[in-house]
Amino acid sequence: MECKALRCLKCFRPEDFCLCSHVRKFTPRSKIIILIHPMEAKREKLGSGRITRETLENSELIMGIDFTDDKRVNELLADDRYLPLVLYPGDDSISATNPTKEQKELLSNKIPLIFAIDGTWPCAKKMMKLSSNINSLPRISFETDRVSEFLIKHQPHVKALSTIESIHVLLDDLDRNGLENLERKHDALIDVFKKMVQMQIAVATDPNRPSYRGRKMSKDRTLLIREKKNRSFILK
Ligand SMILES: [Zn+2]
Repeated sequence: MECKALRCLKCFRPEDFCLCSHVRKFTPRSKIIILIHPMEAKREKLGSGRITRETLENSELIMGIDFTDDKRVNELLADDRYLPLVLYPGDDSISATNPTKEQKELLSNKIPLIFAIDGTWPCAKKMMKLSSNINSLPRISFETDRVSEFLIKHQPHVKALSTIESIHVLLDDLDRNGLENLERKHDALIDVFKKMVQMQIAVATDPNRPSYRGRKMSKDRTLLIREKKNRSFILK
């Protein structure tokens, strides 16, 4: 019988790799809703969506593929305190990086309720296609030259960030445009992400761990394989 490692109930990581003590919680003005694909929830090695949820006190994590009839999602969409948006690239998307005067007004009049999709790129596309309530929302996106901490060494041409990195860029842009008041509190997301990456390297290169991939495979190669599963956003 296989013996499964005990998991932390908050971050869902094996107890030895619990990140909860490294999380510095804060509450942004925007409310972030992470829509997580069930496969991502099960397989995700890094748990970047869950850690984002743990760090942002007013955020929520909802699992599913088609959210059209999701009770909680529809409850949030019906709440008129919010301006619901989906973090997704698109030609007409609101730019968090360089919002127009009208977009700034829009974002400041109501609390931005931002849905972020946590899944591989094909999964995210499918979730968008099936969830008509999310798909029909105005989009928000950002322009950045930042490349994932994981991908930078291997695939500099692929502009993909993990969920936690994407939320950091988004909040950073909103903050710079006076739509948040974070005083760098959002850097907690990057700090915990770095810790997560360090732990992942430790696991991948420890021959005593079951997930060790063998001496022939370099440390970098292992990371690349893992990160592929965690890719969430492809940016323009
Ligand atoms: Zn934990």
